[in-house]
Amino acid sequence: MRAELAAARANWRYQPTQSLLDGRTILITGAGDGIGRCAALTCAAYGANVVLLGRSQAKLDAVFDEITTTTSTDPTIVPCDIEGATVEAYAELNTQIVDHYGRLDGLLHNASMLGPRVPLEFYDATSWLRVMQVNVTAVFLLTQGLLPALRQSADASVVITSSSVGRAGRAYWGAYAVSKFAAEGFAQVLADELAHEGRIRVTTLNPGATRTTMRNAAYPAEDPMTVPTPESRMDIYLYLLGPDARGRDEIQWDAKDWQP
Ligand code: NDP
Repeated sequence: MRAELAAARANWRYQPTQSLLDGRTILITGAGDGIGRCAALTCAAYGANVVLLGRSQAKLDAVFDEITTTTSTDPTIVPCDIEGATVEAYAELNTQIVDHYGRLDGLLHNASMLGPRVPLEFYDATSWLRVMQVNVTAVFLLTQGLLPALRQSADASVVITSSSVGRAGRAYWGAYAVSKFAAEGFAQVLADELAHEGRIRVTTLNPGATRTTMRNAAYPAEDPMTVPTPESRMDIYLYLLGPDARGRDEIQWDAKDWQP
């Protein structure tokens, strides 16, 4: 296990067994950087075969190499810009996952676009459409495309990354805030539709302030060293993606206020 992860683990409120995710296949969007990169490395460290989806091949290659040199899991890289990916591309991805892994046990919607932080009065329409495409429409399209693979799992978990501004609106957060509200709504509708099947859990997760490029872009005056690391957040990611959250019926989760 990486030193940063091992150090953070001491302060986690949930202590998973090392084999927590053995045999599970988990797809993570935006797996090349920030929270997604850390989630990919962490899930692999706990035994998962991780499908690394992202738009920067070099970043995905680096994560892939780190996983294959430190674990005996079977990761895959999926180069994909979710801003432009089509229904057909996601159908093909579903086929590839079923052919290679047999099923999909976890889907972490993590990739996101911040967009401008200006009053709605001055928010530019092109940015609005781009943010909604990446943060909402891609979540819908990818989930819809991968439902057949998720249905092959007896215990699948779909985790959609939210934000505090997707639960209480805040001035100047524009399409990003609105898109996270939409993601919350999407999760509620999907959870209700799938509840009777009893095989696919759907949750939203607010990671809270986390030391990444996006956080730094949103709060440029902040000292990054005062912000919690992605590794410090990984206990809730492991809990929601793994089998221990089975039977929990809460949809909304918050990294700073949760109990395993
Ligand atoms: P980062 O910007 O650090 O990382 C986002 C990742 O998503 C990057 O790897 C990026 O790729 C990828 N990505 C962005 N757009 C696309 C796209 N169109 N197609 C494919 N991949 C894409 O963000 P964070 O790690 O900070 O955020 C992760 C999630 O957590 C987001 O959903 C964010 O809204 C949420 N969040 C974060 C908080 C924080 O404080 N960090 C607080 C609350 C919520 P590339 O590397 O190529 O840019």
